[in-house]
Amino acid sequence: MDCLFCKIIAGEIPSRKVYEDETVLAFHDIAPQTPVHVIVIPKQHISCAAEINEDNSAVVAHIFEVIAKVAKELGLENGYRIINNCGEDGGQTVKHLHFHILGGKKLSEGLVK
Ligand code: AMP
Ligand code: ZN
Repeated sequence: MDCLFCKIIAGEIPSRKVYEDETVLAFHDIAPQTPVHVIVIPKQHISCAAEINEDNSAVVAHIFEVIAKVAKELGLENGYRIINNCGEDGGQTVKHLHFHILGGKKLSEGLVK
């Protein structure tokens, strides 16, 4: 499958990993938009949030446990923003479900604020 994040999971494309277990991987975004910008993905290929269903949602719950753990380890005690872009109108560029963790500064500008 021609999926960038599946290639990162397979180790075919390098990444700066911050967390990995059997079902989830977290790594630094290659083009950080905040001082801390980490991507969290399921190892299972789910193309976008619209594809989450009762058969695969357990990994999404686990992703949010991982986000809480990783955010603490990254020193984001003062808070952070979690973003998921879904589909064309959502601005999703990589078609493998992922959540952005953005932090390391006060996020005041932008959407949903
Ligand atoms: P989205 O626009 O929500 O689909 O986000 C895709 C994200 O993947 C962007 O923030 C990119 O900077 C990031 N990205 C693209 N290629 C890589 C890569 N090789 N390693 C890490 N992050 C990447
Ligand atoms: Zn994929």
